Amino acid sequence: MNFRTLNFAKKENQILKKENRFIQPRVLNSSQRPVAVIDNKRVVNLTSNNYLALADDPYVKQKAISAIKKYGAGTAAVRTIIGTMDIHLELEKKFAAFKRAEAAILFQSGFTSNVAVCQSLMSSEEDLLISDELNHASIIDGSRLAKSPRKIYRHKDMAHLKEILESAEARKARRKLIVTDGVFSMDGDIAPLDEIHKLARKYDAILMVDDAHASGVIGKQGRGTVNHFGLDGKVEIQIGTLSKAFAAVGGYAATTRELRDYLGSVARPFLFSSSQPPSVAATCIAVLEILLKKPQTLKCLWENTAFFKEELKKAGFDTGESETPITPIMVGDSEKAVRFSKELFNEGVFALSICYPTVPRGKERLRTIVTAGHTIKDLEFAVEKFRKVGRKLSII
Ligand SMILES: *Cc1c(COP(=O)(O)O)cnc(C)c1O
Repeated sequence: MNFRTLNFAKKENQILKKENRFIQPRVLNSSQRPVAVIDNKRVVNLTSNNYLALADDPYVKQKAISAIKKYGAGTAAVRTIIGTMDIHLELEKKFAAFKRAEAAILFQSGFTSNVAVCQSLMSSEEDLLISDELNHASIIDGSRLAKSPRKIYRHKDMAHLKEILESAEARKARRKLIVTDGVFSMDGDIAPLDEIHKLARKYDAILMVDDAHASGVIGKQGRGTVNHFGLDGKVEIQIGTLSKAFAAVGGYAATTRELRDYLGSVARPFLFSSSQPPSVAATCIAVLEILLKKPQTLKCLWENTAFFKEELKKAGFDTGESETPITPIMVGDSEKAVRFSKELFNEGVFALSICYPTVPRGKERLRTIVTAGHTIKDLEFAVEKFRKVGRKLSII
């Protein structure tokens, strides 16, 4: 096909290629699992968010299949028309209990959950949204769709957050919303939620935590950062995703009954985009069951995390500030990071390179996530390859 009107795409792509920003994703030829077939090659997979290794779990799959048999493949309606099935409500109830909140509301993704809440709560120019500079793209887009102005504080800088809360603009705001990732997705560090919570109470701001990388990962039984800091019941809004540890796709907000019902009446993604296939709800119910009944799964994730980080450090790599299973391996140069990833792949290990603008220049890296399903042998194999290629490229 040849359209003169679309000639710009070729030029834009050339620019992206020059800047190492042109994306051609690798392709899975198997399920998402710790050792997967990617681009027709068997590799140790250190790149997915399949924290609990449940995406390919026989019990979880069986539950999803049963839901398809009972409820069909899809809902063919938005929640507010006739897309609410009893299994969606069952999952909302279970997520509310898991997050020790009164109620929860499902959205189509973690991304739309953030958009839904930011846009619904920050509905006037008199409101103020206050956001950590390293928050996820969906929070940034949510704040762009909000009517309120926004203020950005330096990453985890509590003095800066306090300064913003004390500003004239904040003092005269109708509503203030502080938004933070619970676990930051590129560095794997944890937000100082205890301190943020204190400031939120002192300055009368609503607190919203996006626990996409924390739910099913940290806190007791994987309940998230709020639980990790002993703040159960004390944070207004907890966002979660069904797309990472929960191995399906979707998102939710756990909050009060009143706010849940308000979001269910005004949040645009809820009103204008269809509900999840019932198999998604069944998948997540099964994952929750495993989290609550089989503590071994979460324990494995953390044992693997500790082992892998330790071995990488012993090999001499800089693994940044991570406190979670997200472990960056700092490289500091785009071309080198891309080459590191490619050569590792040839050796049988998949770890994706992350370059500018996803991370600042000079902070280019490989980003790895171990799962509960990796064996010590898989991880030893990976570290040996990291060492081999790392030496070759003078990274260690
Ligand atoms: C992955 C992620 C999201 C998006 O979740 P999806 O369910 O994949 O849309 C939102 N916030 C954070 C912090 C994330 O890491």
